[in-house]
Amino acid sequence: MRAWLEINLSNFRWNIKSLQEKIGNKKLIGVVKANAYGMGAVRLTRELKKCGVDFFVVATVEEGIELRNEGIDDNILILGGVFNEDLKLVEEYNLQIALNSLEQLKYINNQMLNIKCHLKIETGMGRVGFNDLDIKLLKKYIEKNKVKNIVGVYSHLSVSDEECDESYSYTENQVKKFNDFEGIDTIKYRHLLNSGGILNYCGEDNGNYVRAGIIQYGICGEKYIDGFKPVVKFKSKILFIKVLAEDSDISYGRTAHLKKGDMVATISAGYADGFRRSISNKGFIKINGVKCFVTGRVCMDMFMVKIPEVLKNKIEVGNEVTLYDDNIIEVAKLSDTITYEIFTGIGKRVKRIYIEEKL
Ligand SMILES: *Cc1c(COP(=O)(O)O)cnc(C)c1O
Repeated sequence: MRAWLEINLSNFRWNIKSLQEKIGNKKLIGVVKANAYGMGAVRLTRELKKCGVDFFVVATVEEGIELRNEGIDDNILILGGVFNEDLKLVEEYNLQIALNSLEQLKYINNQMLNIKCHLKIETGMGRVGFNDLDIKLLKKYIEKNKVKNIVGVYSHLSVSDEECDESYSYTENQVKKFNDFEGIDTIKYRHLLNSGGILNYCGEDNGNYVRAGIIQYGICGEKYIDGFKPVVKFKSKILFIKVLAEDSDISYGRTAHLKKGDMVATISAGYADGFRRSISNKGFIKINGVKCFVTGRVCMDMFMVKIPEVLKNKIEVGNEVTLYDDNIIEVAKLSDTITYEIFTGIGKRVKRIYIEEKL
């Protein structure tokens, strides 16, 4: 293997149990969109089921179908938005959708499609969904046409993980708007809270479900959460080692210059694997627990690190190296992004390996 993700299932389940304790009498919706943030949607959905979770969120129709084809027969809600042309498939696979417009509800009814919908209400995210006027028109339509397929209502918080007074009052206003929604009596599922919401606002809302994404991996608001455990390690191997015979430039663009006698190791992963190019000349990996800094630009399939004095004579080709583990937040900051993008950017050719921690 040249590059792989090690996903610790016992830590994952630990986090899910901790979440379930935290949310009390609400229930968990497992957000497994984008291949469960890159960790493998099918496998992690099964782990969630072991913890009693029976409701899942994906972003696309294809993601929903993938779970159905693997025999997952629980509620699956597509939150990414679905175009009318794909609604036949949604019905065929018994998936549920986010409803963002009255036009789509009319289409569903006119085509006599049997699709359960979760009404998305706009409370401040500014992305998709019904505003106050749209809701009035919707209610009229529902009454007139005896619409029965709206089973849920939800909204989405935009600054739930930001710790400042302005974000608190903004979010509290969003929560209030959500709580004030009423008047469609076919609604069974009410869900507002994402990871930040679960951590900071749980109980202020009147939802009976929450949508847990990144918090499943022990991270929220670009911080590690107390009491949760890390789930993911990104690993690779040393492909090549050299001691420079003369002063040398390293990698594309000649952005790094090392001296005669410096030791350089080439690692068998690159930006196509999700080891971000923006980390060039900034980030580090760990070899035997020792930090080794990336030298020169990260290439598509490889990158170089300078080997510190303490590791010389202690490494050889084929040795395992750790690209990220409990430093993923630092890595995200160095690459000018967030952990979500690091996770979901892990390449397709990186093997996902599932481990159970021995107790
Ligand atoms: C992705 C997503 C979530 C999960 O967000 P986290 O911050 O990872 O918890 C919840 N709700 C919606 C609508 C989303 O798009």
